[in-house]
Amino acid sequence: MYVVVTGAAGFLGSHLCERLLAEGHRVIGLDNLITGDLENIAHLNSNPNFTFLRHDVTVPLPDLGPVEAVLHFASPASPNLNSPFGYPNLPIETLRAGSLGTLNCLELCLARTARFLLASTSEVYGDPLVHPQSEEYWGHVNPIGPRSMYDEAKRFAEAAAMAYHRKYGLSTRIARIFNTYGPRMRLDDGRVVPNFIRQALEGHPLTIYGDGSHTRSFCYVDDLIEGVYRLLLSDFCEPVNLGSPQETTILEFAHLINQLTGNQAGVIFQPENRLGDDPQRRQPDIRRARERLGWEPRTDLAEGLRRTIPYVKQKLALA
Ligand code: UDP
Repeated sequence: MYVVVTGAAGFLGSHLCERLLAEGHRVIGLDNLITGDLENIAHLNSNPNFTFLRHDVTVPLPDLGPVEAVLHFASPASPNLNSPFGYPNLPIETLRAGSLGTLNCLELCLARTARFLLASTSEVYGDPLVHPQSEEYWGHVNPIGPRSMYDEAKRFAEAAAMAYHRKYGLSTRIARIFNTYGPRMRLDDGRVVPNFIRQALEGHPLTIYGDGSHTRSFCYVDDLIEGVYRLLLSDFCEPVNLGSPQETTILEFAHLINQLTGNQAGVIFQPENRLGDDPQRRQPDIRRARERLGWEPRTDLAEGLRRTIPYVKQKLALA
């Protein structure tokens, strides 16, 4: 296939490009580089099947030739208020990526009769009142809340994909991606995985916001990309949750990272200096992915972290 990936220089986008190339596809990667990093795709530049184009997907796309699929992964994704790369500090960019960016991708797909795959998010469920979250759940999102620029942009993007599917019969896929971690996460975007690993490697206590009873379910990036790839090849147009069903409290998670890195400094509890509306619990119901895609994560949390720690170590050494 001839595939366009938006957000190609980002954490997930770069892994996705790598996987598509490994499967023999031709890939054009787009990124405006506001949160992406060219270093993430430097190793792909010598691949004749890969082309990178610095382009903002919210601006109508240039003629890219006979495209067969568009995977829309471009968006700021960290909820961190203190990082310049978090979406609270890029609110308009985030809204535009989910709205105009999605519409531009859909128009391209329509013009080329190409397939569209949206990187949606567990944030469409907001701070969920139903646990675990299945795709039937409509969510609990504050439309004017501090996370709304991300949550509502992704909800709009899902609505847009379904509208093009229903009105034009466009072939669309929606991946609702839950917390994912692995090499190439930004060290400076304030998310819990890079924050904790970095603090542990530097011998500091891990900063737990609140009492550590929040839960998340962390999926290793290779597993997630496998799910995205299977979804792309499937013919299923309804949303599919992709994430790990292995739920852990943030406190347990911190202890695991301290154990794996040999950090003796423990944890410190800090008041929640985050956005409001921080989801208390999050765990995907992945029955649909199991049934429709034959997919489930394979990498256990300790193993995935063992593969991620050397990446953070290397980045810190270079910094
Ligand atoms: N968190 C924490 N310490 C940190 C960073 C995050 O306790 O240094 C918590 C945060 O409050 C949330 C969870 O870890 O409950 C996951 O946060 P992250 O920013 O990684 O992503 P989210 O799942 O909220 O989008």
